[in-house]
Amino acid sequence: MCSKWQGASSKGLDVKSEETDIAVVGAGGGGAVLALALAQKGIKTIVLEQAPGPPRGLRGEILQPNGQRVLDQLGLLNKLPEDSTRTVSRFHFCKVGGERLCTVDYGDLPAPYNRAVVTLPNVAHHAILDAIQAQPSVALWYGATFTGLLRENGRVVGLTAKKGTDEITVKAKVVVGADGAFSKVREALQIPVDRYFYPQGYLIAILDAPAPITEAKYFVGKRTILGMFPAAGNKVYLFYMIDAGSYDRVKSKGMPALQQAWTAIDPSNETLFRGLTDWSQTAFMPTGRVRTPTWVAEGAVLIGDAAHAMNPHASQGRMQAMVDAMALADLLPECLAEHDYSAEKLKRFEQARRPQVTMLQRLADEQVLFWNTANPAIGFLRDRVFRTLDRNARLRYRVLSTTAGLRASAPFNLADRLMAAGFLPDPAAHAHDEVARGAR
Ligand SMILES: Cc1cc2nc3c(=O)[nH]c(=O)nc-3n(C[C@H](O)[C@H](O)[C@H](O)COP(=O)(O)OP(=O)(O)OC[C@H]3O[C@@H](n4cnc5c(N)ncnc54)[C@H](O)[C@@H]3O)c2cc1C
Repeated sequence: MCSKWQGASSKGLDVKSEETDIAVVGAGGGGAVLALALAQKGIKTIVLEQAPGPPRGLRGEILQPNGQRVLDQLGLLNKLPEDSTRTVSRFHFCKVGGERLCTVDYGDLPAPYNRAVVTLPNVAHHAILDAIQAQPSVALWYGATFTGLLRENGRVVGLTAKKGTDEITVKAKVVVGADGAFSKVREALQIPVDRYFYPQGYLIAILDAPAPITEAKYFVGKRTILGMFPAAGNKVYLFYMIDAGSYDRVKSKGMPALQQAWTAIDPSNETLFRGLTDWSQTAFMPTGRVRTPTWVAEGAVLIGDAAHAMNPHASQGRMQAMVDAMALADLLPECLAEHDYSAEKLKRFEQARRPQVTMLQRLADEQVLFWNTANPAIGFLRDRVFRTLDRNARLRYRVLSTTAGLRASAPFNLADRLMAAGFLPDPAAHAHDEVARGAR
C-alpha cells in the first residue's frame, strides 16, 4: 500500500520506513472503527496493533443503540452473523434475593435502534477487522508496537514502532492514539493523566442456560452486583462484581462457593449457575477511569479509553470510542484538504465529543457510589430511585436514552433528582410526550 519499505540497519535491526496520511495506534474498539471509516473515505491509513492477531478472549459485549448506529453507518450492522447475536429489549433491575425494582424497555426508544444487541465475544470487532482487511487504502499491522513519536518543529510528524526484529518509521500527517487506558501515545505526547482504578472489577462468565433466556436481569445489593444478559442460542453472560485483585482468591474457594453466592442472589437461576464447570468459562476485567486535560496536540489526537476510559456502569466505554472514531473520521478529510493538522483544528473533534463523555463519566461514577455500596442508607436510596423510575416513564426514559448513548446532557437536573429520590412529586411522571418524541 502507501509507500515502499526502505531497508537500513541499526543495532542489528532492520529499519523500515513508510509514509501515510493517518497512523492509528491500536486496533481496539476505537482504532478499528476509525480505520474502517477512513478507508471508506479512501484515506491512506496505517494501523499498528501490538497483539499478534484479532482478539479471541472472553468479553461481554452489548451494542447500545449509538453503537448500532455506527455499525449501520459502516454497513456492518445487518451483516453480523445471526447465530452470534441476540436482541434484548427488557432489562429488569432486582434486589438481591429476587424482588423486582424496575424494568427498562429499549422498545421505548426511537426505531430502528430500539433494542440492545448482545453479541458473542468479539463478533462485532471481528466484523470490523475483516472489513478493514478488504480495504486497499488501509494497512493493518499485527504484532507492531508503538515505541515513540517523530517530531519536527515541535509538531508530531509520525511515529516509530517495532515489529518482530524490524524497527519501523511511519511518517504521518496525523498520529491517533487509540491504544487504550494505558496509552503510550498519550505518554509520549506528555499529556498529563488523572487515572483512577476502581476498587471493584468484574468476573465475567459465559454459561449455557437450560433454555433460551430473552430478558436481562441485573441484581443490586450490599456491595453486590450480578448481571445476566441473554446472548445467542442458550448462552448467557454473567457480570459479577468482585474486588480488584481477588479473582485468584475467588477461584481458590472453588466453583461451588461461587455458585452458592450466585444462587443466594438469584435463587431462580440455580440450574444456570450449575453450568459453570470450568474456570476457562470466566475472565476478570478490572475497571478504571482516565481523565486528561486535552485530547489533542500538534499533529496528534487521542480517542477512546486513551482519552477518557470510564466505569462500565455507563455501558458506553466502547460505544464512546466508536463514536469518537466516527467524529474524527468526519474531521480528518477537512484537515487533509486544508493541510491543517494543528491542535487548534483537531480541537474541534474534542469540543464535539467532550460534553457527552464527561457527562457519562460523571454518571458512571454516581452509579458506582449508589450501586456498589455496602452502606445501608445509600442502598435504601438507590432502591427507592429504582422504584420511582419503575413508576415514572419520564425519568425512566431519561436514564434509558442516556445509557443508549442518545443524550449528551445529564439525564437529571436537581428537581429530577429530588423527584427520583421521592422527595418531590413529579407532575409530568406519566407524560409520554418525551418518550414519543425520542431522545434529544
Ligand atoms: C468489565 C467491563 C465491561 C465493559 N462493558 C462495556 C459495555 O457494556 N459497553 C461498552 O461500550 N464498553 C464496555 N466496556 C469498556 C470497553 O471495553 C472500552 O471502553 C473499550 O474497549 C475502549 O476501546 P479503545 O479502542 O479505546 O481501547 P482498547 O479496546 O483497550 O484498545 C486498545 C488497543 O490498543 C492496542 N495497544 C495498546 N498499546 C499499544 C502499543 N504500544 N502499540 C500498538 N498497539 C497497542 C491494544 O492491544 C488494544 O488492541 C467495559 C469494560 C470493562 C472493564
